[in-house]
Amino acid sequence: MIIVKSIYGFSREKLEKYFLSIGSKKYHALQLFDWLYVKRIKDYSEITNIKKEVIEKISSEYSISPLKIVEVQRDKDVYKYLFELYDGEHIEAVLMMHDYGKSICVSSQVGCNMGCKFCESGRRKKVRNLETYEMVLQILMVEEDIKSRISHVVVMGIGEPFDNYDNLVDFFKIINDQKGINIGSRHITVSTCGIIPKIEEFSNLDMQINLAISLHAPNNKLRDELMPINKVYPLDKLIPCLKEYVKKTNRRLTFEYIMLKDINDREEDAKELVKLVRGINCYINLIPYNETNNIGYKRTNTVQIMRFYDILKKNNINVTIRREFGGNISAACGQLRSKKEEV
Ligand code: SAH
Repeated sequence: MIIVKSIYGFSREKLEKYFLSIGSKKYHALQLFDWLYVKRIKDYSEITNIKKEVIEKISSEYSISPLKIVEVQRDKDVYKYLFELYDGEHIEAVLMMHDYGKSICVSSQVGCNMGCKFCESGRRKKVRNLETYEMVLQILMVEEDIKSRISHVVVMGIGEPFDNYDNLVDFFKIINDQKGINIGSRHITVSTCGIIPKIEEFSNLDMQINLAISLHAPNNKLRDELMPINKVYPLDKLIPCLKEYVKKTNRRLTFEYIMLKDINDREEDAKELVKLVRGINCYINLIPYNETNNIGYKRTNTVQIMRFYDILKKNNINVTIRREFGGNISAACGQLRSKKEEV
């Protein structure tokens, strides 16, 4: 297998170590970050303040190549990008224009092993983890395309980010670095289906990044059916872990709850959900399900979503309904890749 080593995979700390390891100066890391992430050079030859031999050494080991954009679908306020990776695999990123800024949803793996029943991405098993640089370049490439800065990042594209934890953390470091892409940690959110050991590790990460949990069911019975990961990390272990996370980090959690018609959207589901999250500093984001041709679940109608919302609200649970993006352009997670690869 070809392995591409890319210059976009280094956190500044690791780059400093690299420069030292080749007998060069640590401060070059900061200079190189400036070239890559502020000036956004395309070629090493543009670098003027690092010795030629050092640049030659780096360029012989680390690629500065971009990712290949193979398709862009543009709707009014949502752009969907399909990227081809060095090994011919495909991933997606989605850009959404909000009134508060531009947010990008990035992928973390090629495929996914979590097997959630309603999710298009999981229909094809994980092929591999994304390298750090492949996550970083999703942002750089989209910023270049729109000629403007992205203010918010959510790791909610294809893949389970906590199943690719180490690369994810380096990605956070690069995009959060004030001398790097400089996206504030409070503007970064990672979403997980609930891998407990990684949530614990994440609670020790000294960065104020937001955590979202894909909940989607108010009890183990239903969550077992929808999300196989629940059999490994069931709600009776996950919820105490999240309480501990909130206590330790003092951060508010987000619960994502997809509204699936006649599956998890009844009044009693809402009431059970209230009991489940009671006492946790959180808000619940109700997500109208994005129907896909390959999967049978239907979306709950708006009236029923409002009913569900009202029950949570009445019980003093912070709740929002996710604004819908991209339905017309197959923006549901994994759809564009599925079309491309006909899986
Ligand atoms: N694996 C991670 C992140 C990727 S999925 C996780 O499970 O959180 C990002 C979010 O999109 C999850 O909440 C997921 O359940 C949700 N999702 C998947 N398919 C969807 C669909 N068709 N419509 C709406 N949301 C979907």
